[in-house]
Amino acid sequence: MLEPTGNEICRRNFLKASGFCLGYSLIGAPISLPGGMIRPLSEVAADNSKLEYHPAQFYKKLADLEIECELCPRKCAVGDKERGFCGVRENKGGEYYTLVYGNPCSTNIDPIEKKPFFHFFPGSSAFSIATAGCNLNCKFCQNWQISQFRPEQIRSMKYSPDEIASMALQYGCRSIAYTYSEPTVFYEYMLDCAIAAEQRGVKSVMVSAGFISPEPMKKLLPHLSAVKIDLKAFDQEYYSNICNGELKPVLDTLVLLKNSGIWFEIVYLMLPTLNDDPGKISKLCSWIIDELGPDIPIHFTRFHPEYLLKNLPSTPIASLEQACQIARKTGLNYPYVGNVYGHKWENTYCPGCQSEIITRSGFQVSSILIENGRCKKCGRQIPGIWS
Ligand code: SF4
Repeated sequence: MLEPTGNEICRRNFLKASGFCLGYSLIGAPISLPGGMIRPLSEVAADNSKLEYHPAQFYKKLADLEIECELCPRKCAVGDKERGFCGVRENKGGEYYTLVYGNPCSTNIDPIEKKPFFHFFPGSSAFSIATAGCNLNCKFCQNWQISQFRPEQIRSMKYSPDEIASMALQYGCRSIAYTYSEPTVFYEYMLDCAIAAEQRGVKSVMVSAGFISPEPMKKLLPHLSAVKIDLKAFDQEYYSNICNGELKPVLDTLVLLKNSGIWFEIVYLMLPTLNDDPGKISKLCSWIIDELGPDIPIHFTRFHPEYLLKNLPSTPIASLEQACQIARKTGLNYPYVGNVYGHKWENTYCPGCQSEIITRSGFQVSSILIENGRCKKCGRQIPGIWS
């Protein structure tokens, strides 16, 4: 599957160019940057001349060369020569620019199950890309080595949207996934990659925290085939204290997705003592039923100590199972346990006849008993994008 079909990009060159030689891995491995790759800001302050400026979208000009960024609900007011919170968008003389267009810091071929999408071309590969930066600051971030740094602090590559789309096609990927860090902050690059991919028959999926303003989301949606939203908690206090964000705009994004008709799934990373309260899980599930319907998959995934929350233990598997049971009892048809290899609730069960219709172990799919979008045993329609 990885053999090139043309002679422009050979596998060896791709591995070389995409940072394999720097310690990146290509298939299915987590993002990990070798020690020493991240450079302190003090060392790179003089390096700004190397940054490339690409016009940003969604901002308005204010007085005295100040701008207001309207890309995400943070709505940063940014003075001349300053950057917004995400660290990758800069005001230069009253015009706003993105500093990460065409400069992914990570490229990998991943199973789509890793995103995770369970109802979107199961068993397919996603060409995954990310740049530096994020508009949240989650204390548990698993990709903090890229999300919490400025573009000049980490090594990046140069790939135009056309090159990304071509590579996805050549390496047999059904989709491009904008992932790892928050793709909202590399919006312009994501949008152009999605358009280039569309022209080659490759789908695009956004893996996001959903902390994005409605207008940019609406502009992007026609070029996406699926969205995964990391809903951090059903609790504003948690968003404030743990993520430096807000819950309401994320819920608004979920409703927008529902109304748009695009396929989407929700991930809920469960942190012991912080967002595992069964009462709140129950309220969340009721909200999903009322606002989004019973067929939205929700993945309750296991936390492992990371970044600023190394003091917490890993999530007990019993808590994830309890959340799934609550979801099922509330009426959600597709709750999953995530990050627990080989757990029976990684599989998809038909809500009609209870048959196991997709069998998974980790990111591997071993059996799919869905035909024309229906359970092969009882014929019930299974929501998702299957072919
Ligand atoms: S995208 Fe970045 S600069 Fe724009 S409002 Fe959000 S955090 Fe601020």
